[in-house]
Amino acid sequence: QAKSGSSNKIEFYDNEIEQVRRDKQALLTDLREAADRDELFLNYQFQNSIATQEVIGFEVLLRWLHPERGMIGPDVFIPLAEETGLIKDIGLWVLRTACQEAASWEVAYPIAVNVSPQQLVEPDFVARVAEILAESNLAPDRLEVEITEATIIQDQRNALAVMHELKSMGIRIAMDDFGTGYSSLSTLQVFPFDKIKIDRSFVQNVHESRQNAAIVRATLLLGAALDVPVLAEGAEIEEEIAFLMQETCSAVQGFYFGKPMPAADVRLLTMVKQDLPRAV
Ligand code: C2E
Ligand code: MG
Ligand code: MG
Ligand code: MG
Repeated sequence: QAKSGSSNKIEFYDNEIEQVRRDKQALLTDLREAADRDELFLNYQFQNSIATQEVIGFEVLLRWLHPERGMIGPDVFIPLAEETGLIKDIGLWVLRTACQEAASWEVAYPIAVNVSPQQLVEPDFVARVAEILAESNLAPDRLEVEITEATIIQDQRNALAVMHELKSMGIRIAMDDFGTGYSSLSTLQVFPFDKIKIDRSFVQNVHESRQNAAIVRATLLLGAALDVPVLAEGAEIEEEIAFLMQETCSAVQGFYFGKPMPAADVRLLTMVKQDLPRAV
């Protein structure tokens, strides 16, 4: 049966959708086994004081080295893991591995670990975190948990309860990607954050963009008024750092000070018992 050009296109389009669905399914199957096959690993990125340039901690960033596809970024596979509930196991693996690795450092830098909404609402989340800290022998005040507003919007009352429990253990809580969510201001009013991380989209080009400058200044004022320290994410160039310094932002995390690096590199750096060098 002869087909018109347009129905061929529709068929082609259907096939493409089907292909995308299969790709996603295949990736998910691989992801389920990735941890067991040692394909997941952690990178660590400097967080620096702007005033002194000293390293004040590290953010933990998950990586997946797929045997055929090569490196797959968390922006691709974390949403997939969240959609399917797989994030609960992966998230615990990240926490456990990060705590173990950080406990082996010669300098007791704090680590910041990203936690997804589905993890926080697990009834045993706090108990599991306590268990992991005890097993790894990591002091709770070295752990910071990063959550986004999406986490809080899911179940406000539960999120608040969990945050208070974590804080009572000595764990700190940072609001990640500040400014990109729905209810930044009311969230800050109600939830006991220890740090605000301004999203990279506002930090980039802050020295040239009037809009970004206004947003970053306003966030710094808000942080100062609420007595919550503010860290700027994603600063890459000298001009951005200079702007942040002039506006008395306290901390920064970005390629300017260093790209995320493997655990072994961090460990080596902590063995040199001086300030970590500024990465170029
Ligand atoms: P995030 O938590 O906001 O992490 C910061 C992201 O910005 C990281 O991307 C980091 O590599 C990148 N970044 C930092 N400085 C710069 C810079 O100067 N320039 C540019 N262009 N990028 C910079 P990454 O590692 O690809 O992670 C992306 C997102 O994936 C994270 O955003 C976080 O939301 C999520 N993610 C990563 N690891 C985990 C994890 O273990 N668990 C969960 N739930 N999410 C994770
Ligand atoms: Mg983060
Ligand atoms: Mg962020
Ligand atoms: Mg993010």
